[in-house]
Amino acid sequence: EKTGWFARLKKGLKKTQVNLVGIFTGGVVDEAFLEELEFQLIASDVGVEASAKILDSLRDRIKLKGLKTQDEVKVALKEIIAELLKPCEASLDFDAHNPLVIMMCGVNGAGKTTTIGKLAKHFSLMNKRVLLAAADTFRAAAREQLAVWGERNQIEVISQDKGDPASVAYESIVSGKKKGMDIVMVDTAGRLPTQTNLMNELSRIQRVQGKAMEGAPHASILVLDGTNGQNALAQVKAFDEAAKLTGLIITKLDGTAKGGVLVALACSRENPIPIYYIGVGETIDDLQTFNADEFAAALVG
Ligand code: GDP
Repeated sequence: EKTGWFARLKKGLKKTQVNLVGIFTGGVVDEAFLEELEFQLIASDVGVEASAKILDSLRDRIKLKGLKTQDEVKVALKEIIAELLKPCEASLDFDAHNPLVIMMCGVNGAGKTTTIGKLAKHFSLMNKRVLLAAADTFRAAAREQLAVWGERNQIEVISQDKGDPASVAYESIVSGKKKGMDIVMVDTAGRLPTQTNLMNELSRIQRVQGKAMEGAPHASILVLDGTNGQNALAQVKAFDEAAKLTGLIITKLDGTAKGGVLVALACSRENPIPIYYIGVGETIDDLQTFNADEFAAALVG
């Protein structure tokens, strides 16, 4: 099973721009080669800063270890990228809170709904009792869909007609506590960082949860479309400001040439942001925990 998703991740990352794989031709390791390598890193959305950082480490390692061949450099590059990504490996702490309150946010189309479905299955396989708060109160049709989906998956869904999303979140947590749920997942409507009112609303949804339960939401997760490239950094910043993110789920890594942005993300802050899961396909099982070594291997080839 692992080979299946790993192959898809690898294939996704290999598309078009990420031509890191293509530059290792077996030629000499000279300045031109290293410059081309840096260029390809930037082109694959690793970003200028992170690429420079990687090249610095790489030059050091070439000198220190006396690396001669492109194959050796490739191994070193993989190691360096894996080391940068390692601090982003993270998992949810299911035992720390009862219930564990998880808030999900993101822009429309990022894969939030799909990811919630994947998580619901993942959690139920862990024998966790999940309550879903439909704090996306904008679309009646979406609410109805969610109710049907919840019934099918034996997951209780709390929503309100024309309700206030913050109060849906609040009441769901109160109810989840009363019913002894393991997890309360709060879904929020998709929104753009530029939509100030909606971003303020998200802050309110986030804040009010702390009134229903100490420290809630314990996980504040941005669902991020992995095909967004460098735009991901701006999204993380904006949603972090509004929703005090604790981490990310990055979707669509099976279909992207822009996976290098994960390296940019890892380097963009002093404390690298946790990545709880990655999405590698459209089906309910296409969810994986984030593994730095595997990702680096898929990226570099
Ligand atoms: P939402 O608007 O954020 O709720 O996004 P949706 O969950 O409706 O997803 C938008 C589109 O992205 C749908 O066509 C999904 O099938 C697709 N999608 C979501 N996650 C993944 C993923 O990991 N890989 C791929 N290839 N597609 C995905």
